[in-house]
Amino acid sequence: MVTIEKDTTTDQRSAELAVYVDALGAQLYGVASAEMYEEHFPAKPSPRQFVPKARSVVIIGMPFTRGVMTTVLKHELAGLRPKPGEELSGDKVPVRGAERFFLDPENDMLDHEVALIAYKIARYVEGKGYSAMHLPTEKKSDRRFWTAPFYHMPAMYLAGLGTMGLNASIITPEYGPRVWVTSVITDMELRPGRPMTEDVCTSCGLCVENCPVSALDGEGWKDVYKCSAYGCCATCIAICPVGEGAGC
Ligand code: SF4
Ligand code: SF4
Repeated sequence: MVTIEKDTTTDQRSAELAVYVDALGAQLYGVASAEMYEEHFPAKPSPRQFVPKARSVVIIGMPFTRGVMTTVLKHELAGLRPKPGEELSGDKVPVRGAERFFLDPENDMLDHEVALIAYKIARYVEGKGYSAMHLPTEKKSDRRFWTAPFYHMPAMYLAGLGTMGLNASIITPEYGPRVWVTSVITDMELRPGRPMTEDVCTSCGLCVENCPVSALDGEGWKDVYKCSAYGCCATCIAICPVGEGAGC
């Protein structure tokens, strides 16, 4: 039976949702104000396009396991050999696909796990009498989509979960860039986080130096065409020295 609790205070609602999300097992959790999202990122699709009168964007995420992330930098573990005619220009360039041999199945599991948590949050919020929409985690699952329906990174930043790194990812203090996230947009008013005031990225440059196709310009911009043409190898994620699993 649905319980309507629209008279509870913002802090109460926020605390109750945080407890619920924790029980679901999400290891990364934050809230961004939908209004701030629109104000700071006017070129991105607005939360209000998905939920009229949206007030909050709930971000949840899970970190990659250290064991699998390690394999991104140990191409030999995949046991793959170059195909006839495949050119390797120096030992920095791995056999194509070897970096993702173990990572792809983990991506699938994280995608499923994070999506399920987001779905449960949306059900919870709707059960309280509000509107909610949980977003897909992976924008490239269908090649017909040229742009993301919704951008999670701005919400992560506004929620205070991390700051932009030179690898064009949000770097969290806990896990560096090694997190898989999604968002739930809702008209439930929740207490939003605040952007961090100091950069989490140390500007060490390891991500830029080790990108096999020089897709990172060293100023935080990524050539997504070069990156995806190469297969989004995740080297710039695995090699980042910030957070748990650092220096894999
Ligand atoms: S930018 Fe793309 S190609 Fe370059 S290291 Fe990162 S994931 Fe790999
Ligand atoms: S590898 Fe270094 S420069 Fe790149 S995102 Fe991580 S901390 Fe920043």
